[in-house]
Amino acid sequence: MNNLTNYHSHCDFCDGHAPMELFVREAVKEGFSSYGISSHAPFPVQNGCNMQKEKMTAYLEEFRRLKRLYSSEIDLYIGLEIDFLDDSFNPSIDYFQSLPLDYRIGSVHYIVASDGTPVDTDGSPERFRNYVDTYFDGDVKEVVHRFYRSSFRMIELGGFDFLGHLDKIGLNASLYCPGLDRESWYKKWVTDYLEEVASRNLLVEVNTKAWETRGRFYPNHDYFELMNDLGIRVVVNSDAHYPEKINAGRIEALCALAQAGYTNVWQFCKGNWVDVPIED
Ligand SMILES: [Zn+2]
Ligand SMILES: [Zn+2]
Repeated sequence: MNNLTNYHSHCDFCDGHAPMELFVREAVKEGFSSYGISSHAPFPVQNGCNMQKEKMTAYLEEFRRLKRLYSSEIDLYIGLEIDFLDDSFNPSIDYFQSLPLDYRIGSVHYIVASDGTPVDTDGSPERFRNYVDTYFDGDVKEVVHRFYRSSFRMIELGGFDFLGHLDKIGLNASLYCPGLDRESWYKKWVTDYLEEVASRNLLVEVNTKAWETRGRFYPNHDYFELMNDLGIRVVVNSDAHYPEKINAGRIEALCALAQAGYTNVWQFCKGNWVDVPIED
């Protein structure tokens, strides 16, 4: 069994840039042993990223068609990347738990501003800057606090198989305020969070989407050693929005994990999460 897997993958049911089938075909072509589709789940506020709720049936049907069609070539799984917004909307709610999915990713993209507005912390640095200035009076520290408070609440409520890009706020926040992610209060958020993640024995994604462009994994590779010391299990994912990106950053992430002391990563095998040695 090789380490060619990916379970964080968008397609044109959400903000991905190609039909689901092209991601599957690319995975077959590149020799992936298993592959998972995980569109951004429907969200209460209309936006350009999340799947519309009306498309859920078609999403599941299209996946079933592909699973049948490619069953002899690759092990396919269907999931969703589900946003944490607040106690009433997050991966644990009945709607997501009752969908016939193979797995669920828990991700924080949105935080709630004081006036109740859900504010997307993801996306371009320019938009992030505009949102911090508009909704938080330029207080980027408060934005970070809210991001990690939401993250803590998400894992308290549960309902997901692994955590998506758990420190993603670190990129936009440190573009807003250079060096912010090296300050002790920031590192304490990440460290405390990782300790809580470890105490709950949660599976964590190492997200490689920004490796080529920003030289950054989520979680940042500075934390890999600590994660290994804490016994945190990891799954390497590319968060691909283009078929040609499904394998981006994978080797680099596996090498960085091995260097930090990791010997195994987690993969889906016949419907179960199993740990697999990192190959040389
Ligand atoms: Zn995401
Ligand atoms: Zn994603």
